[in-house]
Amino acid sequence: MATVRHDWTHEEVRALFEMPFNDLLFKAASIHRENFKPNEVQISTLLSIKTGACPEDCKYCPQSGHYKTDLERERLMEVEKVVEQARLAKQKGATRFCMGAAWSDPKDRDMPYISKMVKEVKELGLETCMTLGMLDNDKAHALSDAGLDYYNHNLDTSPEYYQQIITTRTYQDRLDTIDNVRDAGMKVCSGGIVGMGEQAADRFGLLMQLANLPQQPESVPINMLVKVKGTPLEDVEDLDHFEFVRTIAVARIMMPLSYVRLSAGRTAMNEQMQSMCFFAGANSIFYGDKLLTTENPEADADMNLLKKLGMKPEERHDYSDEAYEASLSSAIADKATSELFYEAN
Ligand code: SF4
Repeated sequence: MATVRHDWTHEEVRALFEMPFNDLLFKAASIHRENFKPNEVQISTLLSIKTGACPEDCKYCPQSGHYKTDLERERLMEVEKVVEQARLAKQKGATRFCMGAAWSDPKDRDMPYISKMVKEVKELGLETCMTLGMLDNDKAHALSDAGLDYYNHNLDTSPEYYQQIITTRTYQDRLDTIDNVRDAGMKVCSGGIVGMGEQAADRFGLLMQLANLPQQPESVPINMLVKVKGTPLEDVEDLDHFEFVRTIAVARIMMPLSYVRLSAGRTAMNEQMQSMCFFAGANSIFYGDKLLTTENPEADADMNLLKKLGMKPEERHDYSDEAYEASLSSAIADKATSELFYEAN
């Protein structure tokens, strides 16, 4: 079992990023193999339960009410509709159901609905995950009591670059939410976005923050910026793809027991690039045609790619491979189960 360190220094992270590419990938792939089945990928299904009009000003996000994008706003979904979508997803093979709302934080009036949602989705036998913005300690405990397994709250970038991206909440606010989630006994999903015009040092800083948390997140989504028209980052310069693969590899080395998730931005990656990310240690994806409000590769394309690579969805059921593949293929092809979100709260 790998040693999990919480004392990474800037110099050490830089040294990893600056390794010859093949050496870096070899190191990351070796660590991946020691801790996970290298040919399995964990797959999550997501549902946007409230879309757009968010009071926060995250400069990458089409859901922010501060920017004019083509996004259609939607109010909080009724509990029954959410449960229906979860039931459908389960019938078709999903094991974890993630629900996202474009809020700064859930308000007191929302909590009974949200808790009911969690309870009822949980009663279906699904793992539950939510991303609702900031959580204070009471709300974190309320969600945990309702049965929530995971909470997503990304750090987004380094503390130094953060102010260039979000001004309506602080980096410390984010760390406090993660603390509250941990304190309430839930698992943490937290990562960031690269390609937002940041410096290499900011990518080092993001990974250092995540790895040096008192307990590393169980799930670490690494997003490649999806440039959305109308947001302040619509014209930012593209990040070199090799730098993205390096970021995945370094995340795998620094957080050897976490699921490293290829999240938003996969539509801009060809199959070869995604394969390289899997080799570098990515072992989780969102499956479906949208992530909150941004495009995601077609579900069939995902299955085809996994097949080509001799990979398969992480096994959590006692299904035969064929039945499991068939169930997943049909699952997210049903757009109703995957009106998904940019996992970036
Ligand atoms: S990333 Fe989340 S908090 Fe930020 S604007 Fe979008 S929905 Fe709101």
